[in-house]
Amino acid sequence: MQFIDLNRQYDRIKSEIDGRIQSVIDRKSFIMGPEVTELEEKLAKKVGRKYCLGCSSGTDALVIPLMAFKLNKNDAVFVSSFTFFASAEAINTAGGTPVFIDSDETYNMDPQKLEEAIIKTLSEGKLKPRGIVPVDIFGLPADFDKILKIAKKYNLFVLEDAAQGFGGKLNEKWDGSFGDVSATSFFPAKPLGCYGDGGAIFTDNDQLYELMKSIRVHGQGTDRYDNVRMGVNGRLDTIQAAVLLAKLEIFDDEMIKKAKIAAKYTELLKDTFKTPIIPENCFSSYAQYTLQAESEEQRNEIVKRMKEFDIPVMIYYPVPMHMQTAYKYLGYSPVDLPVCESFSKKVFSIPMHAYLTDDEIQNISDKLKIICNK
Ligand SMILES: *Cc1c(COP(=O)(O)O)cnc(C)c1O
Repeated sequence: MQFIDLNRQYDRIKSEIDGRIQSVIDRKSFIMGPEVTELEEKLAKKVGRKYCLGCSSGTDALVIPLMAFKLNKNDAVFVSSFTFFASAEAINTAGGTPVFIDSDETYNMDPQKLEEAIIKTLSEGKLKPRGIVPVDIFGLPADFDKILKIAKKYNLFVLEDAAQGFGGKLNEKWDGSFGDVSATSFFPAKPLGCYGDGGAIFTDNDQLYELMKSIRVHGQGTDRYDNVRMGVNGRLDTIQAAVLLAKLEIFDDEMIKKAKIAAKYTELLKDTFKTPIIPENCFSSYAQYTLQAESEEQRNEIVKRMKEFDIPVMIYYPVPMHMQTAYKYLGYSPVDLPVCESFSKKVFSIPMHAYLTDDEIQNISDKLKIICNK
């Protein structure tokens, strides 16, 4: 069994994907071909943003807007600790300093702890609060109702890390539409994945769009060989855009299927584990279906026994960002962010994709219950 079964998806749309890739090869328009523009227009419309910029990865989709905000070392950017490394790393790459925020029970950034951290940073006076990077972890939108109010109160930019969130919704608005600018990833295992690295940036802001468009291609000015600022090589490949266009056709259907699968899992497993908490105004893209064991020992047992049953189980994330070796210099201790510290010891994710059968869902759930004697 596969954790995310890309074979079944490919079987479904093989001729569309193959045909679109072949036409890029026939034209040899590998860099910034028409598929990139077509995809950017379709994605902007879907997410409900004025602009979309295709990028070389989700990481670059975070770095480019952060470069546009012109950070320096004394600029604090508040980011979830319970996330993938890139959410925080991008802040350093762009020259700033991350300040880590603990989670609430949804795994997302706790807005109350965010405000406490802003107040603490202001009173310490060493760093200057500049922005917030809320992450839509596991596909659930962060609490933007509260976070956007806090951002306004303290005059901070908001960069939504929607790398896992594409397809998620809050108050009927799509992930990728919150804050000044949003980043998503098309890494193959993400809700909308390509066949390599890829990502996209979304914004409604004209100036920010022009700036990011320039940074995406080496800080290019109006003329191709006139470079007016420092940038990166952050373009999306045409072949990846072609794959994404084919996959976009079935994306909404896949989201509906995943929501049904998640509901089945929750029904079968809610008496055995803490199942995902999805607030009423939210729709999750279920980048991961994540459960919480009672203890670290129970999780170890689950990981070991599920392996014997040949069912893949993954741990996202065993080490929160404030405890990463690369962030030792910031001087955090585990007790500083106790909620995500506890998550990191207890969470595990089980197979989740649109092509899981009822039998597979039942089997995975049964095996988990056997392991926990329930
Ligand atoms: C995957 C991911 C990224 C980085 O995306 P890449 O395309 O792998 O560079 C950033 N943030 C989060 C939350 C992610 O899950």
